[in-house]
Amino acid sequence: MHEIVINLHMHTPYSDGHGTHDDIAQAAIRAGIDAVIVTDHNIWVEGIEGYHGEGNEKVLMLVGEEVHDQTRSPQKNHLLIFGADKELESLAQNPQTLLDAVNEAGGLAFIAHPVDPAAPIYNEPDLSWVDWDIQGYVGIELWNAMSEFKSLLSDKFRAIYYAFNPGAVAHGPFEQTIQKWDALLNNGMRVVAIGGSDAHAMPASMGPLRRILFPYEFHFRAINTHVFTTEPLRGEVEFDREQIFTALRQGHVFVGYDLPASTKGFTFKAQGAGTKAWMGDEISSKKGVTLQIRLPQRAECILFKDGTALKTWSDRDLCAHVTAEPGVYRVEVYINYRRKRRGWIFSNPIYVR
Ligand SMILES: [Zn+2]
Ligand SMILES: [Zn+2]
Repeated sequence: MHEIVINLHMHTPYSDGHGTHDDIAQAAIRAGIDAVIVTDHNIWVEGIEGYHGEGNEKVLMLVGEEVHDQTRSPQKNHLLIFGADKELESLAQNPQTLLDAVNEAGGLAFIAHPVDPAAPIYNEPDLSWVDWDIQGYVGIELWNAMSEFKSLLSDKFRAIYYAFNPGAVAHGPFEQTIQKWDALLNNGMRVVAIGGSDAHAMPASMGPLRRILFPYEFHFRAINTHVFTTEPLRGEVEFDREQIFTALRQGHVFVGYDLPASTKGFTFKAQGAGTKAWMGDEISSKKGVTLQIRLPQRAECILFKDGTALKTWSDRDLCAHVTAEPGVYRVEVYINYRRKRRGWIFSNPIYVR
């Protein structure tokens, strides 16, 4: 398996973002990530997809779309669409019709910011997902950087503090989002978790102070989606894109907050009698299974089964657990950064059946 670092969910002036596709490519190259997925609101931008840059200094830019019904008030139910390669905005009024069209087009859909609190002092409404009675999505955006920022805007003083200290913002996905994910998984669904930046590179000013709120490069060093492909990327757009989308669909993915320390090298695997599974896979519980977790450095690691913490290792980099019990097993890892305990790694589940 080959680990690829992707930053996904971002906006350009084609919708309400403030940096160009080229700004995004340059920022991604500086941050050293492998790929980005740009998702403007209600517009699929053609002709941009491909490698930007050269040699070791290049990044794969993929272009999807973030679709929602603009006639709805408030404008909830945002859907991230990758790989559909067509404009689907006209189907936004009915989330199920939209999902069916994504699947028919061979694309992947993820529910964007499933929980997104309002920020009343900035007149920002709650844009959570509400129509849960739908089928056909691959997964959810477990951790959205801008939703978390919104949740901290209780007064102007705090808003300025976090705008100037973006590294102080992220603590982890909302508890409510994790609970929703666990509830879906406990219902027998397979739901792939991804992390999104929702980058806008918004210019902001407070009196004489001017700055770009959360520049793209900051996001690209922060909440990334790490995917494991079966083949290394070749520098060929079609091949590489297929590798990445296949890995996303299979859940061979974890969410890593790379700002405190790189999460590269994390693995969560299962070894059974003559079989192996990777995060996102299913494995039989017969004759027992050994779950193996490897962390890039020592940290606090928690193994969850069916949404409940089963085992905690407080300062380890290699953890193992033997079980013959069917269940949905997943891992959360926490690290101290800027004097606070922060979410560092959120794995996708291994489904022990
Ligand atoms: Zn959105
Ligand atoms: Zn967005």
